[in-house]
Amino acid sequence: MKTFDLIILGGGAGAFSAAISANEYGAKTAIINAGLPLGGTCVNVGCVPTKRLLRAGEIIHLSQNHKISGLELDIKKFDFQKIIKDEIDLVSRMRKEKYEKVLNGLSSVNLFEGYATFFLNNEVSINNEILQAEKFIIATGSKAYIPPIEGIEEAGYVTHVEALKLQRLPERLIIIGAGPVSIEFAQMFSRFGSSVTIVKRSPGILRFTETELTDQLEQILVSEGIDIITTDSFKYARNQNGEKILVLSTDGKEIELAADEILIAAGKIPNTANLNLETVGVEIDKRGSIAVDANLQTSNPNIFAVGDVINLPLRFEPTAGREGTLAATNALKNTKYTIEYDSVPFTVFTDPQLAGVGLTEAEQIKQMGTCNCRTVSFKSVPKAIIMNQTEGMIKMVIHPKTEQIMGVHILSPDAGELIANAMMLIQNKNTVEDVINSLPMFPTLSESIKLAALSFKKDISNLSCCV
Ligand SMILES: Cc1cc2nc3c(=O)[nH]c(=O)nc-3n(C[C@H](O)[C@H](O)[C@H](O)COP(=O)(O)OP(=O)(O)OC[C@H]3O[C@@H](n4cnc5c(N)ncnc54)[C@H](O)[C@@H]3O)c2cc1C
Repeated sequence: MKTFDLIILGGGAGAFSAAISANEYGAKTAIINAGLPLGGTCVNVGCVPTKRLLRAGEIIHLSQNHKISGLELDIKKFDFQKIIKDEIDLVSRMRKEKYEKVLNGLSSVNLFEGYATFFLNNEVSINNEILQAEKFIIATGSKAYIPPIEGIEEAGYVTHVEALKLQRLPERLIIIGAGPVSIEFAQMFSRFGSSVTIVKRSPGILRFTETELTDQLEQILVSEGIDIITTDSFKYARNQNGEKILVLSTDGKEIELAADEILIAAGKIPNTANLNLETVGVEIDKRGSIAVDANLQTSNPNIFAVGDVINLPLRFEPTAGREGTLAATNALKNTKYTIEYDSVPFTVFTDPQLAGVGLTEAEQIKQMGTCNCRTVSFKSVPKAIIMNQTEGMIKMVIHPKTEQIMGVHILSPDAGELIANAMMLIQNKNTVEDVINSLPMFPTLSESIKLAALSFKKDISNLSCCV
């Protein structure tokens, strides 16, 4: 029987970071992957391909909406199939460079291809072979949740996996869900020319974050021609001569939507069902996520878990990666490293992007009974005026007594880049005064953070450009 110091189940971002750390410690390690190709969700069917397609959509949109007179750039023709091929080629290049080559360089790590299942306390089985180890890291990720809508299988649908490989642009697309995946795909396909309808159960979109900003983003999406419908319940779906019909109830009335394709983006469920976790005493919550403590240890002290498969907040590529590194260290070196999730940012890669870190207004009210927050429109940000992209806003939450910055949420071009500044402010426990005394370059979108800080002290509408 083959024995190892560490066995890692899964081959995505979490698993790879764990494998790299284990290799640095010289630990004899097995990494077992099946399902998605090496690299898992992010590179193959997540971050990388969606961001390429969003970029393509953004270029098409910008060509017609830059609002600079005298600049005629109307893109009338583009080749959807070639755009998809370009995206698939990029994925294959990045998988090779960032995963396959990296793995080849890890001398103490062996790759096994196949589905891993726990067999005994210190054993997993894969393709009828048993592998043994002292420690394990589960990094099996998650997959799209398919809501139980009567007839949906017969009607036919795609998830994010297939939607990234469509060979024909659907003329009409229904998207079920209102989270980041749904909203990114909605804008991307709408900008390619599909007529998109989002169907959601919640009152707004992206309900996990600052509603003042998500309401504004919702208006922007609607102004671009995306329909957003709230349903009380899904009735059924059916296929009518290739057309996909979704029947739902809204405000007590039954309505029927017809489309060429239905994309289900209603959240994700952890890949735990077939791991035989009961055998090894690893507890899961009612969603099926693995319960871990702050050190990423499960209820079995020899088994750690990381990434989309666990029950902690903020399930993204950077959290999966960092958790992998720390879990490998905690498992092999008996350390107790943890992550400070309060200063981890998120980004939704729409245009404008929505990014945030720390407390929202509602969260501060819940925690402290009050909110000390200000919202500044990008109409006050010179760079946004220069770019003709002023529909965004920034909201800052500060401690009512110490004026320490506790949360920043931004809806703007490149908000995903700007939020890294805010992340450092929160990590370093900076105050409003620290930001006011800083000198961001003029004209940059980063000035919005200084303007938000200044708005706690003065009326920013009366300031000149160089605040
Ligand atoms: C459409 C989309 C867009 C996204 N965009 C972003 C983004 O822009 N930025 C960002 O930070 N995050 C993004 N995410 C989230 C991000 O991709 C995930 O949080 C991250 O990839 C999770 O990594 P992981 O290692 O936990 O799991 P995964 O990357 O899913 O890896 C798990 C691997 O384990 C395999 N596996 C499952 N069961 C077994 C088994 N029993 N045995 C062996 N192997 C198994 C799976 O097939 C897979 O290969 C996006 C997600 C989606 C769906």
